[in-house]
Amino acid sequence: MYLMDYHHHTNHSFDSTASMVEVCKKAIENGIQEICFTEHFSVNPLAPTYGHMVFDNYLREIHDCQEQFQGQLIVKAGIELCEPHLLKDQYDEILQPLNLDFILGSVHNLNNQKLRLALNEDQPTAYERYFNELYHMVSDSDIDIIAHFDLMKRYAYKEHGLYVFQEHQEMIEQVLKKAIDRNIGMEINTSGLRTGLKQTLPSIEIIQLYKELGGEILTIGSDSHTVEDVGANFNDALSLAKDCGFNYIYTFEKRKPIPVRIQ
Ligand SMILES: [Zn+2]
Ligand SMILES: [Zn+2]
Repeated sequence: MYLMDYHHHTNHSFDSTASMVEVCKKAIENGIQEICFTEHFSVNPLAPTYGHMVFDNYLREIHDCQEQFQGQLIVKAGIELCEPHLLKDQYDEILQPLNLDFILGSVHNLNNQKLRLALNEDQPTAYERYFNELYHMVSDSDIDIIAHFDLMKRYAYKEHGLYVFQEHQEMIEQVLKKAIDRNIGMEINTSGLRTGLKQTLPSIEIIQLYKELGGEILTIGSDSHTVEDVGANFNDALSLAKDCGFNYIYTFEKRKPIPVRIQ
């Protein structure tokens, strides 16, 4: 099977110190054939990631890696946006000329507050607010893939436990339908498998529902912030995709989804 990682961070993100060249070397060592870097980026001065990204440097380093590892590893230029439905025009203005391969959309903040802090409210309310914000993102932003669909659980599970899928099913369904409608796909984010959470983001119920509703576009990402974890748990995600009835995983080129058959 063609191995790929479509969610990875390096020191171009505010919360990683990993070197891109080292990540590429490790990827090759681990038998990964394609990597798409997806650094954090926000145009909102209140977002923790604001001001870190220098696109000239980022794109130059990607270009250098493409040359250095030609024939061994395909390197794509992606980005992970915070709340891309807010300040949409500012995002468009900066991103359109860059001609990136791939855009992940994320809800990391609610009302300019990190999810971790938004949790201090009642549990159903916090999750409801999160999924509601996700709906707005999917309805009104220029993205390719929804990152870590049920991210709220990453911050909630320890103290408050996991959410009950059925309690949010209606809202989740609205998000998925809107995504399918607008040709926006979903990732299986494996980061949760490497923490006490012990599950992917999203959970299997959401992946199943996405399939049931006719969703096709699926990527796999480690959401790694280190050299060591590049491509981590790819096979777990692949099995999950297969179990849910998917026959393809996607790569992207200049924002165009390209199916890769699951073997
Ligand atoms: Zn991060
Ligand atoms: Zn994220």
